[in-house]
Amino acid sequence: MFSLNGKIAFITGSSRGIGLGIARALARQGADLRLSAVHREGLDAAVAELRRNFPERRIEGIPCDVTSQESVDAAMRAIESLGGLHILVNNAGINLRAPVEDMPDELWQQMLDTDVTGVFRVCRAALPLLKGHGGKVINLCSLMSEIARPGIAPYAAAKGAVRQLTRALATEWAQYGIQVNGVAPGFIATDMNKPLMADAALNGYIMRHTPAKRWGTVDEVGNVAAFLASSAADFVTGQILFVDGGFMASL
Ligand code: NAP
Repeated sequence: MFSLNGKIAFITGSSRGIGLGIARALARQGADLRLSAVHREGLDAAVAELRRNFPERRIEGIPCDVTSQESVDAAMRAIESLGGLHILVNNAGINLRAPVEDMPDELWQQMLDTDVTGVFRVCRAALPLLKGHGGKVINLCSLMSEIARPGIAPYAAAKGAVRQLTRALATEWAQYGIQVNGVAPGFIATDMNKPLMADAALNGYIMRHTPAKRWGTVDEVGNVAAFLASSAADFVTGQILFVDGGFMASL
């Protein structure tokens, strides 16, 4: 039921962090992988690691900058030539922190362009490949899809929009047999969160408010993505699944 044998997955931003964790989880369940990132060096290292650990899977690296339509279109052509697509994971994301009163337009635009317009761009371009396969789309949401904290307004705005885009696409693409869901990680130990992990006050806040009393792991997010990518979730669409050690439940 959870087998992904014979499925091909494209994961944006999978050179490290949560994207790489999701890639490992999908490979464990049998999927072939199309890994992706902007920077070639990190991408090549991720491809090499996964080929070493999953020699029976076909694993290819496809550079893709989700802020460029040209780059997204080129990636889709490469994916098509490599055998098509069944599972799309929109994971690429950034978080540039600044209070709104000091925020230049460029920072706001870059955040929205990467974290929400990037998801729209990749989804739209991938649809022709996903149609007819009973495809799966998984979008990375966040606690900030529902709540907010100071200093990350564009991230919260973008992740709230990704939650709504996920629901909208679920309703539009049900006619094609495509399920669209979100995974919302809580506080997960990754590069993006290094500044938070080093901040004693914030780290204390996270420990007090996460009932599980620890940071989550990228594997724990990956396992949930693998469920949503599988036929076990064929009647699940438009949902945002929180992987947060109980954080949202305890608010
Ligand atoms: P990360 O460790 O910083 O990795 C980000 C990945 O995205 C890298 O592979 C990076 O590739 C890629 N990327 C950045 N800009 C890109 C662009 N314009 N086009 C394509 N790829 C791009 O991040 P993470 O912490 O794993 O987060 C991954 C996702 O989970 C994000 O959407 C984030 O918002 C979400 N999330 C994370 C947490 C958490 O606790 N970490 C919690 C909730 C949600 P390059 O190195 O080549 O740029």
